[in-house]
Parts: sequence; structure tokens; C-alpha cells
Amino acid sequence: GHLSDEIRSKVENHPCYSEDAHHYFARMHVAVAPACNIQCHYCNRKYDCSNESRPGVVSELLTPDQAVKKTMAVAANIPQMTVLGIAGPGDPLANPERTFETFRRLSAEAPDIKLCVSTNGLALPESVEELSKHNIDHVTITINCVDPEIGAQIYPWIFWENKRIKGVKGAKILIEQQQKGLEMLAAKGILVKVNSVMIPGVNDKHLAEVSKIVKAKGAFLHNVMPLIAEAEHGTFYGVMGQRGPTQDELMELQDSCSGDMNMMRHCRQCRADAVGLLGEDRGDEFTMDKIESME
Ligand code: SF4
Ligand code: SF4
Repeated sequence: GHLSDEIRSKVENHPCYSEDAHHYFARMHVAVAPACNIQCHYCNRKYDCSNESRPGVVSELLTPDQAVKKTMAVAANIPQMTVLGIAGPGDPLANPERTFETFRRLSAEAPDIKLCVSTNGLALPESVEELSKHNIDHVTITINCVDPEIGAQIYPWIFWENKRIKGVKGAKILIEQQQKGLEMLAAKGILVKVNSVMIPGVNDKHLAEVSKIVKAKGAFLHNVMPLIAEAEHGTFYGVMGQRGPTQDELMELQDSCSGDMNMMRHCRQCRADAVGLLGEDRGDEFTMDKIESME
């Protein structure tokens, strides 16, 4: 493989990357970021952002102060707690005050906990400097395409410099920002994982090229996630019935990309307020109500 020893050791101790580690190390997400700066056709704003989370789930929105309290309560009760992520319910970097306040406080108050964040990448270049000041283990960028024509089929608009920019023009800016952000993080030595949502008939044939490009720019993992099109969630282009990939189609694409880089095959698309070992979700034991009554 192409992983350096330093990256390999990080990966082996990380619940999301190592099939083994996920039995011994726990992760949690805190949902502090309500706003988003783009529109994905597969998004339903009632639910958590699909950059990292399984769609169709509503997380408890926390203030940075509540998020710190919750992290401390979880760390006190789950000794394997090693990684804290901000993954929604909107885009973490579209909520810089709330996201960075949470990271600032946790870096100071819980320096042993590794931090991670996921983003659509639009606000990434302007965030790299601030991200580099914290104990950031890795950044996940959702990159669904590198071609603005395909992008226009996935993103109806972005919100950029106080304006809504539609279609190919908006998609082009988003793609440029994602690629620039990826390059800037790699230059700073911050690990980058790339997520892609596989959308049959839209970007399925294109993702092998995406995989090649992001690896060349230094991403250490590529995670192809299936579009989850459920009845409630399945509007795409405003049309009911866009299907998700079959398990075979997903595996075939993962195989065709894995010649080029490490593929992540066991991401669970955890909810934006997931708590515990991977594959378990103890979020319900750590609602703010319950945490406040622990004190
Ligand atoms: Fe929804 Fe996330 Fe896309 Fe924003 S980035 S539109 S919250 S799926
Ligand atoms: Fe790990 Fe994937 Fe869950 Fe994030 S969504 S905590 S990367 S398994």
C-alpha cells in the first residue's frame, strides 16, 4: 500500500478506519452545526447532513457548551472514547463560530481526544488555518464529482459571497474549493478522507476518476457510500424514485477504485450524534436531559 508508517499507525488506532480498532476504540459525534451553505439534491434539511451521516435521522442540536459537557460525560462513562467528530446536522464549516468554539474548548479541556470534522468543502480553504490550530486527526470532504456538468446534476445551488449561484457555475466553484481545500490540508500534513455518494446514472461511472484525482492530491482514504433512497427521502431532482445502488454495484465500484487506493468498506454512516463503539449507538443514554441529571 502507499501509506506511510505515520499514517498507518494513526489508521490502526482509529475506530473508523481499522476493522480491528473499531472493536476497542469508541467515537462520538456532536451535532453543533445547523446551517448549510449548499444544496445537495439528496439532502432533506429536516435530517442530518449526508456528508457523513445516514439520512433520515434527526440529531439533538447542541450548543458548544452542551457539546463539551456531553463529551466529558461520555468520556467519563466510556473509557474507550478516543475520537470526537462534528458532522452536522448541517455543514460544520458553514457554522465556524460554533464548530471552532467546540474544538477550541475540547483541545484545551480534553487534549487526549482526537477531533475530526466532515464538510462539503465549500468553506474549507478559509478554515484550514484555524483547523490546523486544533488537535484535528482528520478532515472528511464529501467529493461527488470533479466535473461541473455532473456537479450541476447533484447540486442545484451553492451560497457563495452572499449570493445563490445555480447550476454548472455553482458546481464549478464548489469543486474548485474542495480541491483547493484538499491540497491545503495535505500541504499542512492534516489527514484527509474523501467520501463520495454513489448515485446510479449520475456519478457512478465518474467516481473511479474522482478516486484517482483525490489520491494523487494526498487523500489517504476514499469512502464510497451508497445513495440511500428511501420513500421518505427519495426525492432527487425533485423526482421520486431515484434509486440507490445495489450492494453488487457498490462493491464493484469499490473494487474498481481500490487498485488506486485504500477503500473504506465499513463506514456505518453514523448519525450526527452517534456515541459508542462502531456498530453500536448509545446516543440515547447521553441526551442533554440525561447528562444534566448526571451532574
Ligand atoms: Fe444537506 Fe449536507 Fe448537502 Fe448541506 S452538505 S445540502 S446539509 S447533505
Ligand atoms: Fe466513522 Fe463513518 Fe461513523 Fe464517521 S460515519 S464515525 S467515519 S463509521
